[in-house]
Amino acid sequence: MANILEIENLTVSFDGFKALNGLNFSMEEGELRVIIGPNGAGKTTFLDIITGKVQPTEGTVRFKGKNLKSLPEHRIARFGVGRKFQTPRVYLNLTPRENLELSCNRTKTVFGSLFRKSSSGEKLTVKGLLETIGLVGKADIKAGLLSHGEKQWLEIGMLVAQSPDLLLVDEPVAGLTDEETMLTGDLLISLAQSHSIIVIEHDMEFVRQIARKVTVLHQGSILCEGSMEEVQNDPRVIEVYLGHTDEAA
Ligand code: ADP
Ligand code: MG
Repeated sequence: MANILEIENLTVSFDGFKALNGLNFSMEEGELRVIIGPNGAGKTTFLDIITGKVQPTEGTVRFKGKNLKSLPEHRIARFGVGRKFQTPRVYLNLTPRENLELSCNRTKTVFGSLFRKSSSGEKLTVKGLLETIGLVGKADIKAGLLSHGEKQWLEIGMLVAQSPDLLLVDEPVAGLTDEETMLTGDLLISLAQSHSIIVIEHDMEFVRQIARKVTVLHQGSILCEGSMEEVQNDPRVIEVYLGHTDEAA
């Protein structure tokens, strides 16, 4: 399988402080990858680099084989990178159906009369998206009345409506109930059938639910990668997390 994302020797300096430091990373098309790491490890900066919000000080980022150097954020988004932010950005005065219709139409405008299909080749419909995100029953109430979790799912649906090849999801279950957390896991697993996805998360129970391959970030570099079990039993990971707990205490 081809690598959808290839990052080489990536360094990002903020006034001399290296938020990312000589990082190497690659991921195959179709992977669901979870990235964990203590606060300040560089996780959000890592996403900022992929979306073009932040430019590397050194190193290269290749997405679908193309070097993203100097490409503005909107070009990278159009090229197929979709990002879900921590706070949902949905129109609260519109219904979920209307929110999704807007996202679908925006895609059509950008691509002219071209009818975009999802990566799996299915035609994306508002009805199908509502089913995927589990909001059929609430399709026509104002989005402002949805729970926090339901708003998160709606925003994920709005992203999917734009058929990204790579979905970046930053801490999707922060502030969600246990049940919503589990349903979010199911949703991401189901989206992973037709998308490449990077999820950043702190909630270890949730990571265990969805994880295949896990990457541990620490001080701007990759500490280790592997299955959840491998990573959890890695002495370096244990040390980093215990150290972190001590700091917090
Ligand atoms: P994480 O998401 O893993 O908690 P971040 O990527 O947000 O970590 O931050 C990594 C480090 O880089 C932190 O020490 C943070 O303070 C620093 N940092 C992030 N963005 C900036 C910025 N724009 N200017 C200066 N320092 C920053
Ligand atoms: Mg962060």
